[in-house]
Amino acid sequence: MSDCIFCKIAKGEIPAKKAYEDDDVVVFHDINPKADVHLLLIPKLHVESLAQCDIRHQQMLGKLLLLAPVLAAEHGLAQGFKTAINTGVGGGQEVFHLHVHVYGNR
Ligand code: C5P
Repeated sequence: MSDCIFCKIAKGEIPAKKAYEDDDVVVFHDINPKADVHLLLIPKLHVESLAQCDIRHQQMLGKLLLLAPVLAAEHGLAQGFKTAINTGVGGGQEVFHLHVHVYGNR
């Protein structure tokens, strides 16, 4: 989506501190971290939120979740980490491009 900030980050049109990228997924450091490490895992495909996902998104969702522990370990969160997927206005979602928060203290 042309006016989506996370689509722009995924395309490299606006800067972000990227931690990982492949054909489907981009991971970057949250601009306003809640912990020592705070990563956002997003699909390159624009999907508004978890509430818009269906069976077609199964592989992408699995990929995002399986990346979480790998990236957490790579960033020193050996003792564990938190994940969050805020969904919709009532769920505290502010950016309407699906993202998984992964955060924790070293
Ligand atoms: O889950 P929610 O939509 O509330 O979170 C959006 C997150 O995106 C916030 O933690 C915010 O700091 C982050 N953000 C960012 N870079 C931007 C815009 C928002 O890391 N350019």
